[in-house]
Amino acid sequence: MAKSYIVGNWKMNQNRHELNEFFGELEKEALEGGNFWIAPQFIHIQSCIEKTNKVPLKIGAQNCSNNDSGAFTGEVSPKSLKDLETSFVILGHSERRSIFAESDELINSKVQKVLEHKLTPILCIGETLEQREANQTMDVVLGQLSSGLKGIELDSEDSIIVAYEPVWAIGTGKTASPEQAEEVHSHIRQKLKELYPELGEQISILYGGSVKPSNIKDLLEKPNINGGLVGGASLKAQDFIALCKATI
Ligand code: PEP
Repeated sequence: MAKSYIVGNWKMNQNRHELNEFFGELEKEALEGGNFWIAPQFIHIQSCIEKTNKVPLKIGAQNCSNNDSGAFTGEVSPKSLKDLETSFVILGHSERRSIFAESDELINSKVQKVLEHKLTPILCIGETLEQREANQTMDVVLGQLSSGLKGIELDSEDSIIVAYEPVWAIGTGKTASPEQAEEVHSHIRQKLKELYPELGEQISILYGGSVKPSNIKDLLEKPNINGGLVGGASLKAQDFIALCKATI
């Protein structure tokens, strides 16, 4: 069975004071026995990693460069992330694709680079509302999956995580129904099994798009939904705790 995860994507939120409060609340909870990950802003990665001696969380990044070093002003190196003991990197988030014009090719090269450094890429894929209404969901999602994984060899089922995030459900309060999400997840599973016959069944596929404590249980009941990639609800400690507990 694929492992379950709750991954919080803090985006450009949480200042130092807010994250101290967040971790303070988590310290009071017994959160052992699951895979709970948070991606803060780059500047807070180190201080969040230091706090993981008291809470069982892994800390990751929301993006990185596809280069290790050099004249790339403003970029963040995956090699430096590894050096900080960062665990994972979210890649291909729809905000990176739409606001920062990241192409499938660029995302693929980032996946390659992140794997080279033994960090776990979380490859995000998902269709816009327009694409869903034009019946293009599977073509778009499976196209992004194949392009993102082009030429990528995996050592194990834990080497990579896929996150299906319908763009129309991100930050909108509109969640895909468990049935809508499962329909796409089962196609993603099929494609993963084609690409990686030995591993495809066990690779975790997360759902993202307005996940909250009130809908996580129904989503997790579906066979190919192995957890959540969570934006808004991961900023509130009590919501994040409730989401984590739903997976234990
Ligand atoms: C996200 O940012 O990946 C996300 C799913 O956000 P939200 O949970 O706020 O919809």
